[in-house]
Amino acid sequence: MLSNLQARDAATVLHPYTNLAALPQQGSLILERGDGVFVYDVEGKPYIEGMAGLWCNALGHGREELVEAASEQMRRLPFAHLFTGKSHDPAIALAEKLKELAPGNAAKAFFCNSGSEANDTQVKLVWYVNNALGRPQKKKIISRIKAYHGVTVASASLTGLPNNHIDFDLPLPQVRHAGCPHHYRFALEGETEEEFASRLAAELDAMIQAEGPDTVAAFIAEPVMGAGGVIVPPRTYFEKIQPVLEKYDVMLIADEVICGFGRLGEWFGSTALGMKPDTMSVAKQLSSSYLPIAAVIIPNWIDEALNRQSEKIGVFGHGFTYSGHPVAAAVALKTLEIYERENILGHVREVMPHFQQRLRAFGDHPMVGEARGMGLVGAVDLVADKASKRPFDAKRFAAAKVVALAQEEGLIVRAIGDAVSICPPLVITEEEIDQLFDRLGRALDRAESWAASEGAR
Ligand code: PMP
Repeated sequence: MLSNLQARDAATVLHPYTNLAALPQQGSLILERGDGVFVYDVEGKPYIEGMAGLWCNALGHGREELVEAASEQMRRLPFAHLFTGKSHDPAIALAEKLKELAPGNAAKAFFCNSGSEANDTQVKLVWYVNNALGRPQKKKIISRIKAYHGVTVASASLTGLPNNHIDFDLPLPQVRHAGCPHHYRFALEGETEEEFASRLAAELDAMIQAEGPDTVAAFIAEPVMGAGGVIVPPRTYFEKIQPVLEKYDVMLIADEVICGFGRLGEWFGSTALGMKPDTMSVAKQLSSSYLPIAAVIIPNWIDEALNRQSEKIGVFGHGFTYSGHPVAAAVALKTLEIYERENILGHVREVMPHFQQRLRAFGDHPMVGEARGMGLVGAVDLVADKASKRPFDAKRFAAAKVVALAQEEGLIVRAIGDAVSICPPLVITEEEIDQLFDRLGRALDRAESWAASEGAR
């Protein structure tokens, strides 16, 4: 039975990324307020926000300083844009800060409002820059199966998940998907992580050869895949992938939308995974998601190519009304200041071994085939049979069952296929990590009883 608010919600809100057929029966979880790593629903029930919203609310709720930064900027200059030779100090200071933090030789930041817009911008820059460089045939972009890069036309094409393509008439013809670096699911019998990584690199090489190296422009990768199910690449993966890209002059785009700003205990996931990207997309934790803001960080050679093209054709014809919105930029700047002042990276490094140890202990649970993760992000992969890794029948919605039971236990986590993902605010304490995994453990135990009583195995 839906509450009045749930019924109004189901009747009027078209929900993103939701099972639309199930929602009218189940009703939405309607949240009212938050405090630290906890959120409260309209009945006042507390939940640990085990997903930091959508992998984004790094500092948790109730940060007055961020509210102050927003209201101060709103009073002073609530809107100004960056088009046609205009600028404002929050955008300038934020671009300078990103340039300082980014690994490699970052030159400039292009501001967007979302991860999808950032990755759409990446695609357009690849095309535009290759035209500027006089190689108009070099346009294809290789992503990976199970990658998540967003939902706009180009970024959804990069995404390697069926639900983002089927019936949307995607992906675009310039996009290819290479193999998914998930050892547990895709390694051959007896293949070590290193051997699996070598095979993936060889397959990428063969793919580029088959496409024609002159036609392949870029490879895009999340350091740790997030919304595809929290997939940590096998050891030596990027070490082996990158020489292949270099060999064929294929640029590397790092999608840092989840990993950026501390998720893996470094400023950027690229550093944690040994990636040396040409460009990066950042969003989410950039502002701890108090306001939407994202950026593409580009190196000198792209900046120079853009300038050359502008000399030829005039205006660089790309940008959003809210590119570098001053209030969002002010909040992002304050967020980065807090990360540094409170040594949030140091905190993540301190608590992440405990997080990983509690997470991996679920590897012994009868419902769990693999418990995996890195830094402060992880997932448990549910299986109907541990020995054969046989998944549950998809119609059982086993992961959704665990998520629903966790919700009853006062924990928000997310189902992704057979995986249940966990990505708490970066400020979570060891004690709260224990509470989180105690609640998840109770949900998994209850799910096991459910599986047995329903004959779901
Ligand atoms: N890239 C990655 C790695 C993401 O996780 C996401 C969002 N989950 C996006 C891009 C898209 O970001 P947005 O939803 O802000 O468009």
